[in-house]
Amino acid sequence: MSKTEVPYKIYLTEDEMPKAWYNLRADMKNKPAPLMNPGTHKPLSAEELTPIFCEELVKQELDDTTPFIEIPDEIRNFYKMYRPSPLVRAYCLEEKLQTPAKIYYKFEGNNTSGSHKLNSAIAQAYYAKKQGLKGVTTETGAGQWGTALSMACAYLGLDCKVFMVKVSYEQKPFRREVMRTYGASVVPSPSETTDVGKKILAEHPGTTGSLGCAISEAVEVAVKNPGYRYVLGSVLNQVLLHQSVIGLEAKTALDKYGIKPDIIIGCAGGGSNLGGLIAPFMGEKLRGEADYRIIAVEPASCPSFTRGTFAYDFCDTGMICPLAKMYTLGSSFIPSANHAGGLRFHGMSTTLSQLYHDGFMEATSVEQTSVFEAAEQFARIEGILPAPESSHAIRVAIDEALKCKETGEEKTIVFGLTGTGYFDLVAYQKYNDGEMGDYIPTDEEIAASVAKLPKIEE
Ligand SMILES: *Cc1c(COP(=O)(O)O)cnc(C)c1O
Repeated sequence: MSKTEVPYKIYLTEDEMPKAWYNLRADMKNKPAPLMNPGTHKPLSAEELTPIFCEELVKQELDDTTPFIEIPDEIRNFYKMYRPSPLVRAYCLEEKLQTPAKIYYKFEGNNTSGSHKLNSAIAQAYYAKKQGLKGVTTETGAGQWGTALSMACAYLGLDCKVFMVKVSYEQKPFRREVMRTYGASVVPSPSETTDVGKKILAEHPGTTGSLGCAISEAVEVAVKNPGYRYVLGSVLNQVLLHQSVIGLEAKTALDKYGIKPDIIIGCAGGGSNLGGLIAPFMGEKLRGEADYRIIAVEPASCPSFTRGTFAYDFCDTGMICPLAKMYTLGSSFIPSANHAGGLRFHGMSTTLSQLYHDGFMEATSVEQTSVFEAAEQFARIEGILPAPESSHAIRVAIDEALKCKETGEEKTIVFGLTGTGYFDLVAYQKYNDGEMGDYIPTDEEIAASVAKLPKIEE
């Protein structure tokens, strides 16, 4: 196909946007292992999950068999305000790299949350509203998820309580103001507003908090307040389901021009953008209809896939949440303070974990300074200031394109550009000042936290 035939940006019409989400689990022979009750070590039933999560979302969480789940019109209409998102042909980057590879990226940063998280936030808020709830609670680390949820709740008239990890609350005051502008109440975690927060503060005075602690506080408030439920922005099957709009749109756009990718790349924190981007492609792979190389990219400082263990573990540091079978570094693993805040989770989606375990995808880890080198290069050539999380995928896309330059292969590479980096300028400042380091955990550190995994007989 000649260069002029594929535009710089492939847009879809509203009518071409997906009408149903695709549930990858339906095509998996080995299903992801079920969430387990931490007390009884038995798979969690819908009844056990409904005091915490919205009913419809529990159904989606547990549904391993329905391939397509219709997107309600209200959600589709909301999607239309900022979707379809463009699939961009990175002609300028290709030229700069002098590579025969063809590079495409799916850009999800075109909304105020600055990331793909809005795709699931609006769905989760919609089902909460439909159930007649007053509001939802959640935690946020880097802040993108809290912002996305605040936007969705403002639109639907739901109350939104966000527990924001204290260190982020203090370091990212502007994120906090965006959430407050959308009407959310934002509480630095740990706080005096919950029992678990008080307990943690008593034990660790002056602590700057963690995601695990914020989860525990958000869950407590949801369970104790009638009319509230807890929502989560990644890791869960339902989140991957909602994020399948990314992959479905990308596939429709590629199909329009008869393009078949060779390599699909995404960054992996809890796995939601990657799970969404690859969904329809992985479906074809699972059904034996096509083959793709699929690469998950994680930070070297928090390498769940590449150095973790495939086992049941807690999703939170407070050890109150369900157990999930996943690639994990252990729930007591505290990653060093890297700047890709959205990629600092110790575990990984159960769906992606199973697929990785069964050899359907690869994973690689990259160091922080090389990620920011790629971010800088991308910003200067393609114009978009990428989120540090997204830049992990950029790094590997550039590396693969450079390999093609050596071999002369004209591979087609698609990667997920999950968001923009306007709230990450402290990280860019460190990079520009030459003060950015790379901390890679030692084998001993990982072994120590993995040794504390719960003992489960399967
Ligand atoms: C949250 C986030 C991620 C990582 O989360 P996943 O669930 O792994 O997708 C990546 N990029 C951005 C911009 C994010 O906000």
